[in-house]
Amino acid sequence: TKNIIECDTLVLGAGPGGYTAAFRAADLGQKVVIVERYPVLGGVCLNVGCIPSKALLHAAKVITEAEEMNEAGVSFSKPEIDPGKLNQWKQGVVDKLTGGLAALARARKIQILQGKGQFTGAYEMEVTGENENWSVRFKNAIIAAGSSAAKLPGFPYGHPALVDSTGALDLKKIPEKMLVIGGGIIGLEMACVYDALGAKVTIAEFSDGLIPAADRDVVQPLLERIRKRYEAIYTNTRVSRLEENGDRLTASFEGQGAPKESGQYDLVLVAVGRRPNGKLIGAEKAGVQVDERGFIPVNRQQQTNVPHIYAIGDICGEPMLAHKASYEGKIAAEVIAGQKAEYDAMTVPSVAYTDPEIAWMGLTEEEAEKKGIPVEKSVFPWNASGRNLTMGRRDGLTKLLWDKSSKRLLGAAIAGTGAGELLSETTLAFEMGADLEDIALTIHPHPSLSETVMFAAEIGLGTITDLY
Ligand code: FAD
Repeated sequence: TKNIIECDTLVLGAGPGGYTAAFRAADLGQKVVIVERYPVLGGVCLNVGCIPSKALLHAAKVITEAEEMNEAGVSFSKPEIDPGKLNQWKQGVVDKLTGGLAALARARKIQILQGKGQFTGAYEMEVTGENENWSVRFKNAIIAAGSSAAKLPGFPYGHPALVDSTGALDLKKIPEKMLVIGGGIIGLEMACVYDALGAKVTIAEFSDGLIPAADRDVVQPLLERIRKRYEAIYTNTRVSRLEENGDRLTASFEGQGAPKESGQYDLVLVAVGRRPNGKLIGAEKAGVQVDERGFIPVNRQQQTNVPHIYAIGDICGEPMLAHKASYEGKIAAEVIAGQKAEYDAMTVPSVAYTDPEIAWMGLTEEEAEKKGIPVEKSVFPWNASGRNLTMGRRDGLTKLLWDKSSKRLLGAAIAGTGAGELLSETTLAFEMGADLEDIALTIHPHPSLSETVMFAAEIGLGTITDLY
């Protein structure tokens, strides 16, 4: 049977982009239909991305902090880790959030069709469900179909020891030896989890450094810590072959930084980036342009080349981050409702929730150099932060980049505990056009990690010369 459904706005995909857009559109009086292939709302972020990874990272933090309190004369016995129970707890966190979304959708009378959506025309989408199919006629559509983990060709997919981030988050047992292919944010976050749980972790990264998008000095504190904890970190290294070896996998390496010997691993995580899903939704039937990588180009109103069809989130471009998706979702919904909205953010902040956390926003030094923008920098090292020391840590730094003549903030990067939370002060300062004085003359609580932002501004102004 095929049901015909009519609506004002169809939203394809229920990730942070899609549900935010759908809620906003409904609040603005639109009749909204969400098409989502999975039975739960929340997309990658809630189900197999941001949220479950942060839940496991919290467990990792508790474990390592307890271990490190040993030096302070507080000793705990070795933790007993029940991977099944930890996995259930993590799933409970996810379920609470996705359940909340379902209630919010119901309250707004948003119709949710569970099935795979494919455009069949510029005003029509076919939805193939398990037992039911629908044809949805819409006035406007918002494509929020997200992205999928990239695969490496020739690897034995299907072998239980070979996983992507979704498999790595589905904690079954703790491997003795783990290989993480890809030293980006997702790979390093999962490495941090498994290291804390007791696995011996090896990282293999193709480029010459970890978290390539961030400045090297900001990644350094993470590198120093994980060099001590992990079995090996290979940069300039390609995993050339991965072969089945009973329950394990044997990896061979190639490249300047590669080890000569192959290695055997109980778990291999491939985290080499994500591919937008643009080519999988029948966009051509609606006349919507998709570039060769699968991204759907949009203007500042989030419109595709077909003006009543919008695209938001991972599918419309980098950086592939949840907060960019939800920001864009609101714009698309507001433009559809006739409001004057457009993409006007100056930066999308990035955070690696590793230990220590690495966070940055605005310009990086490397970007400034490439673009020929002159920047000044001031750095406050966290070994001079009282708050950091009271937490048993010495590592971390806060770096501000600013314009020499106006002293306006142009970028910031923070490495250390809670860097992801601290970064927002600098992002707000940047959006507000703040200069170093604005930051330096704002009273920050003492002792706090947030003081490091003020201190870095004072260093820039020359009002702190010596660290005390
Ligand atoms: P998605 O969340 O990808 O949602 C798209 C939805 O569309 C999916 O539910 C999919 O099932 C559905 N869909 C696709 N095609 C169809 C179709 N044809 N028919 C029906 N439904 C369809 N970002 C952060 O900002 N912070 C983090 O800490 C963070 N951690 C991450 C950790 C991991 C392990 C991963 C993998 C990602 C992480 N991300 C993080 C990235 C974040 O998850 C994405 O940027 C975000 O989910 C993108 O949202 P979206 O709405 O564009 O799409």
